[in-house]
Amino acid sequence: MGDERVLRIGWLYPTKLNIYGDRGNVIVLSQRAAWRGIGVEVVEIDVDDPIPDGIDLFFIGGGQDQEQIVVSHDLAGAKGEALHRAIDDGAAALAVCGGYQLLGHVYRPHDAASLPGIGVFDVESEAGSERFIGNVVVESQWGTLVGFENHSGLTWLGSGVEPMGRVVVGRGNNGQDGTEGVRYRNALGCYLHGSILPKNPALADWLIGKGLEFRGQNPELTPLDDTLEQAAHRSAAGRARSERREESHPTRFGRIAALAPIRRS
Ligand code: GLN
Repeated sequence: MGDERVLRIGWLYPTKLNIYGDRGNVIVLSQRAAWRGIGVEVVEIDVDDPIPDGIDLFFIGGGQDQEQIVVSHDLAGAKGEALHRAIDDGAAALAVCGGYQLLGHVYRPHDAASLPGIGVFDVESEAGSERFIGNVVVESQWGTLVGFENHSGLTWLGSGVEPMGRVVVGRGNNGQDGTEGVRYRNALGCYLHGSILPKNPALADWLIGKGLEFRGQNPELTPLDDTLEQAAHRSAAGRARSERREESHPTRFGRIAALAPIRRS
């Protein structure tokens, strides 16, 4: 008897917000469901496309300010309200970087007008003076998470939400309060590219379970052999920690390298 369950994934703005491997998250969610015999439908929801009914799990990736201007306009009004309602009702969601910022109240980029968000996350973002770039390690309810950040946006959490985790290595939401990302109901926002899910299988399974549960399907997932995922996770965490060590206590080589970048003849 096959598994009757079907996971419907709503992939928001695949042609606009999809950098630093973000599409890998849709591949991981689809594959980890399929490995359990669960049916998967990926619905691409791009500019001018309505939010269809019956989506269990939304994904939105990151992008440059230019793309965010287009997406912010497209989410204004009925489309943003429909997405807001679905997440309020308990649909699962993962929003990365630029997408995370536009699910908040507002993103104020450099030298451009403020971009209204849909306000489902009680957060506000503004471009800072420094770009946060590098490998990241975060402590969270899903254990240690690893990823890569590249953003100038600083995000501040309002009172209605909790952070997704605490930064161990990296800058996170704003490089000041030690938080990374946000959790609201079954929706998560974060600055973690990479993509984030291949190296964090527990987080991927949590999202799949919440997505199945949303429309009353059994959220139980049989365990998978995550040997490769765990190995990739450990190596990414190790690299991030050693980079931070290098930053805080530069070795002799590190000092020389910082002084004179290697010229390739
Ligand atoms: N443009 C936004 C920022 O710089 C988001 C960048 C991204 O999605 N990586 O903060």
